[in-house]
Amino acid sequence: MKRIALISTGGTIEKTYDAASGGLANREAVLDVMLANLDLRGVRVSRIALMNKDSLDMTPDDHALIAATVHHALRDHDGVVVVHGTDRLTVSGEAVLARLLHEEALTKPVIFTGSMRPYELRDTDAPQNLTEALLAVQILAPGVYVAMQNQVLAFPGVTKDRAQGMFVRA
Ligand code: GLU
Repeated sequence: MKRIALISTGGTIEKTYDAASGGLANREAVLDVMLANLDLRGVRVSRIALMNKDSLDMTPDDHALIAATVHHALRDHDGVVVVHGTDRLTVSGEAVLARLLHEEALTKPVIFTGSMRPYELRDTDAPQNLTEALLAVQILAPGVYVAMQNQVLAFPGVTKDRAQGMFVRA
């Protein structure tokens, strides 16, 4: 059994419709619903619900906390998946890479993923991206990556191309 830690931090993938405001908000634990619908034989997933934020609202302390949590989780897991808002995903990705390199702890794969459209929407890309990340974490070499939209990119040097709505290498 591969032991995978799944850290959730929020982002579009976890947004749900908020009837009170008439908009989308980061409120509910959407990932658990998604996980219940996936066939994940051969892996044991530990859920770490760290925060549920639009990544545009993340502070430097939030990015540092994500890096520290990944570092800690790697000690007793074979790999880590981080679900994150795409707008600041690369900030956390670089923070994780810097911390793991500094601590000489880059010994396993860390995969960031997210989605451009919420899980609640009919045309969501969330299940595809989560599935890709959960497969990538089982087969990639040690490193920090983003996996979604049928591509895997290694940090450092990943950026979000807003015009194309996808991640690219700088
Ligand atoms: N601004 C949101 C975030 O970064 C939405 C972007 C997204 O997740 O795709 O959390």
